[in-house]
Amino acid sequence: MTEEQRNIAQNIGKIRERIGAAAKSAGRSAENIQLIAVTKTASATDSRVVALAGLKDLGESRPQMLFEKASLLADASIRWHLIGHLQRNKVAKTIEKTHLIHSVDSIRLLEAINLEGRKAKKTVDILLEINISQEPEKHGFAPSDVPETLETISHLSHLRVRGLMAMASRDGGRAAARKDFAAVRVLRDKHSHNLPENVSLDELSIGMSADLEEAILEGATMVRVGRAIFQTTA
Ligand SMILES: *Cc1c(COP(=O)(O)O)cnc(C)c1O
Repeated sequence: MTEEQRNIAQNIGKIRERIGAAAKSAGRSAENIQLIAVTKTASATDSRVVALAGLKDLGESRPQMLFEKASLLADASIRWHLIGHLQRNKVAKTIEKTHLIHSVDSIRLLEAINLEGRKAKKTVDILLEINISQEPEKHGFAPSDVPETLETISHLSHLRVRGLMAMASRDGGRAAARKDFAAVRVLRDKHSHNLPENVSLDELSIGMSADLEEAILEGATMVRVGRAIFQTTA
């Protein structure tokens, strides 16, 4: 193992400790919080180190990068998560390669995924990305779009919604992140009744390196961590 690889393994240990401590203060079990390693800034070699350290859920924000790493690391039994914007022309390959698409952000994309799912004879697991901070440069459904979106999804037989995904406001710091994550939880709770058969909102994919504690306090079931794993303190 190189110095850098040892560093990555140590960083994963520290993240697991942070998750454990946050779960404890939230009165939750750390087992119900899945750590996803975001490899978008990492080489395929460093991504493999993560899998060797026992962390098998990896996330990429660009479909093309996900495809490349998935084929380079095909032997490592990784479950790939797409966490960034997906264009419709990449849907077919994406559903073939991914375990979960976190970043479904439009009705047209929902329809495209459903169509490709039908062709591939599979039911595709997704999360709905919510633009909770309502920043115009961000992707995601507006909170007010959720009821209409769920109604559309009830007619899409090759999709299964597992929950919601969101990011905190860009420069707000931890206090603002907590507020954003609380708003996601409230939105989820508000819509948790009378859901269509192919929708559950159990999963909340919220929290990154800088704000995973806030996310866990607000009910995160998945945290997506990049920098805190791959940064190497020289
Ligand atoms: C990059 C990225 C992350 C990881 O962020 P870090 O600050 O590096 O932990 C999580 N989610 C999404 C959608 C990202 O693009």
